[in-house]
Amino acid sequence: MTEIASHRGGALLWPENSRTAFENTAKLPVQQVEFDVHPSSDGRLVVIHDPTFDRTAEATGPVVDRSWAEIQQVLLKGTGGQRPLLLEELIGIFRNTDIALRCEIKVDAKGDPYPGLPRKVIESLASAHMTGRSVVTSFQLATVAEATGLAPLKGAVWLVSPIVLRDIGGAANAARLAEQQAIPAIGLHHSTLNPEVVAQVRDRGLGIGGWGCKTDPEMRKMFDLGVDVFTTDRPDLAIEIATERKRQS
Ligand code: FE
Repeated sequence: MTEIASHRGGALLWPENSRTAFENTAKLPVQQVEFDVHPSSDGRLVVIHDPTFDRTAEATGPVVDRSWAEIQQVLLKGTGGQRPLLLEELIGIFRNTDIALRCEIKVDAKGDPYPGLPRKVIESLASAHMTGRSVVTSFQLATVAEATGLAPLKGAVWLVSPIVLRDIGGAANAARLAEQQAIPAIGLHHSTLNPEVVAQVRDRGLGIGGWGCKTDPEMRKMFDLGVDVFTTDRPDLAIEIATERKRQS
């Protein structure tokens, strides 16, 4: 079955990575919720996509330059006064659901990994007894490899951008690199997926997912390809398509 992951809590339906987005996603029949983590200056795990506040919050500058006490004063745009959530608060929203956590470990504004962030994320998931319900993802191969080695997870996924996919010479090579790091799956942008690519990855025994899906045809393509999971900003539309296809099968 192709699973649906509500991307940033459904970024085209609600303000991304907000309490509203996650509380609404928690009521949907989706299998996963995707979100992003950056550290505060005092090492708390903040759920926000960009390394800076500028685009999604009423503040500017890097997330990592502010303490959690300071970030608690920052409001997310379009939320009517909500602040960013901590990972532990997000866990609280999903604990009593069947929805798996798809946690993306981000890099700083220079594109450098935050030292120790994979360990902090895994420790936080472990202390909430959530590692078995969590999939860790990152565009950094070393970050996913580190997280994979720290605890048995539900899954771990190396996200491969179209540019990186081209530079390393295609999906078979991406799968081989992931395999060498004991990473069980890769995630590709929907536009770079096709039956041949899916077969190349599956032939190596790896899982394959799609990301970046926003429209009806993009999501139908994911179901047709039979990928393991795809992330979408429109989980409502994905559910509609999945329901329709179930009725027809
Ligand atoms: Fe993400």
